[in-house]
Amino acid sequence: MRVLGIETTCDETAASVVERLPDGSGRILSNTVLSQARRHAAYGGVVPEIASRAHVDALDTIVAQALRDAGVSIGQLDGIAAAAGPGLIGGVIVGLTTAKALAFASSRPFIAVNHLEAHALTARLTDNIRFPYLLLLVSGGHTQLLAVEGVGRYVRLGTTIDDAIGEAFDKVAKLFGLGYPGGPAVERAALNGDPTRFQLPRPMIGRIEPNFSLAGLKTAVRIEAERIAPLRDRDVFDLCAGFQAAVVDMVIDRVRVALSIFEEKWGDPTAFVVAGGVAANSALREGVRRVTDGRVDLVAPPLELCGDNGAMIAWAGCERLTLGMRDPLSFAPRARWPLDEAAALPGARA
Ligand code: ATP
Ligand code: MG
Ligand code: FE
Repeated sequence: MRVLGIETTCDETAASVVERLPDGSGRILSNTVLSQARRHAAYGGVVPEIASRAHVDALDTIVAQALRDAGVSIGQLDGIAAAAGPGLIGGVIVGLTTAKALAFASSRPFIAVNHLEAHALTARLTDNIRFPYLLLLVSGGHTQLLAVEGVGRYVRLGTTIDDAIGEAFDKVAKLFGLGYPGGPAVERAALNGDPTRFQLPRPMIGRIEPNFSLAGLKTAVRIEAERIAPLRDRDVFDLCAGFQAAVVDMVIDRVRVALSIFEEKWGDPTAFVVAGGVAANSALREGVRRVTDGRVDLVAPPLELCGDNGAMIAWAGCERLTLGMRDPLSFAPRARWPLDEAAALPGARA
């Protein structure tokens, strides 16, 4: 089975062809990603109107290149998938409408993919893991711990009560003028810093529900920065290192709690999976490796599959199509679409 996947929910214009083999494994035949980060950098974040227009400009070329790289024609596809949300609605409309048009013109099945479900299932494309597994989803818009029971079956164990982790990295980067996207910039700065110089809070640690909170930590970074201003490079490095260490400490504690809850309700997880753009952070990967060591296998996608890409959409399309799920061309784009509402039955997804 071969599926074309289209991703346009944020500032990556991406398309990919993924093949699912009869044994359930996946193969990426092409994976074309055009980042718009440069266009948004001057604003310190994604400007929705610029993003939508850039998707319109680039998408047909990106799709054509993904098909060419894969050596596959539209007629040889078994399905066409697009992220139908959650995300910036203008961009979602561009990708979704393009996928629908291709599906209609070629009489192929159309699959509306939840972008978060695509992040959640990426680990099954790269690694042979079964359900149920524990998932830490850490991205620009989301920070959640979920039990993944199956395709379309997610139980949320914990979430952030304010900002997402990726968002907090972006805001800290903006505070120090480190550019956009902020995550990689803060990580680079942190490499040169002393994480112990500033006493920063570890929110939520010890709470019995595995929730997250970033707002207080972000404010603490700002207050420290104002206190010692003007900032030298060394100060910025130390503040970034302190911020990142506080985030990792919180994540480790929250994962430990979620693992216990998971084991009580579902038994041993088949794996612990980290997904989403922030999963690219080495300190975070190292931290969760420590907490899961000896307890459960850690699965983290390769870096190029952590951030937004078309392969994860194509793979989620493969997973759904294999189970006989497809969607009507009337499927509406969704700016908001919680993962625990990505119900398995097409009828429940209208
Ligand atoms: P969502 O998936 O919730 O809709 P999104 O698609 O915008 O949001 P992703 O593309 O999955 O998010 O991830 C982007 C986020 O990941 C950004 O906030 C970015 O700063 C963060 N990020 C990327 N690399 C790193 C890194 N090395 N360290 C920390 N954060 C990072
Ligand atoms: Mg992006
Ligand atoms: Fe994402």
